[in-house]
Amino acid sequence: MRAFTYSIPMTTRFRGITVREGMLVEGPAGWGEFCPFPEYDDAEAASWLAAALEAASVGWPAPVRVSIPVNCIVPAVDPLRAQEMVRDSGCTTAKVKVADEPGSLPADLDRVAAVRDALGPGGAIRVDANARWDVDEAVAAIRALDRAAGGLQYVEQPCVTVEELVAVRTRVDVRIAADEAIRRADDPLAVDVTEAADVAILKVAPLGGVRRALAVAEACGLPCVVSSALETSVGLAAEIALAAALPELEFACGLGTVALLREDVVDAPLRPVDGMLPVLRRAPDPVRRCALAADGDRAAWWGARLARVSSLVP
Ligand SMILES: [Mg+2]
Repeated sequence: MRAFTYSIPMTTRFRGITVREGMLVEGPAGWGEFCPFPEYDDAEAASWLAAALEAASVGWPAPVRVSIPVNCIVPAVDPLRAQEMVRDSGCTTAKVKVADEPGSLPADLDRVAAVRDALGPGGAIRVDANARWDVDEAVAAIRALDRAAGGLQYVEQPCVTVEELVAVRTRVDVRIAADEAIRRADDPLAVDVTEAADVAILKVAPLGGVRRALAVAEACGLPCVVSSALETSVGLAAEIALAAALPELEFACGLGTVALLREDVVDAPLRPVDGMLPVLRRAPDPVRRCALAADGDRAAWWGARLARVSSLVP
């Protein structure tokens, strides 16, 4: 199987990184992407490789829809920039990152209020705290953000544990979405989030492929939102394939993420138009793939990681 390492600067710092790196692998069914974040250990990275190998070796189940509604992403930026990002996106749902650093709540409140202004009353706002709050902080922050936003669609992963999510959920009127609680669980198929969440966030790469993510969707029994793992358009196609294959899709998905990368490895990036993404798949363009190749040291690091993790994939 051929494999190439890419290194792409990001347009905005996101989840603490400014450069996205990963590998593209080619197999009989097409291209897959292996891009676990650098701090993930080999055991956690094995699911990411399983997803890349599914894409390259067998492809994905048949879609049941031809396009996917997506949300725009508003990182921890100032209110004017947040409004610009919402207006430029053409999306009617916005996902706002909050709790990016300790003491960020006042800025978070200003940002969600600005986003509501830009979206108008008909738009939907969801926030993602990436498990940064304890229960009391979460309850206070969610109530304040819900007011500032003029109503939140849901709050993604306010706290770390399932028990904390249950505690928060009993004290607020806003829906709770489970993200890390599912994908970083020892067994995503077995974790019980029925008391902890109203919505499940699914990502193909950390769950080990489209088929496995569909099984998790069935096991958890909640409405699902598919979110990307910050892949190039090659890996994003797998996330789109999941969103396209889910029996029900009630909410917009978090798949408008290639705009966070300054470049893409394909000629025609999978960017939403008017808030909708077509269900398509892309192969890397050879010229772009070479132009975006990681330097020798990073390529060697990724090659060694791929070799180690390969031995962990069943
Ligand atoms: Mg999240």
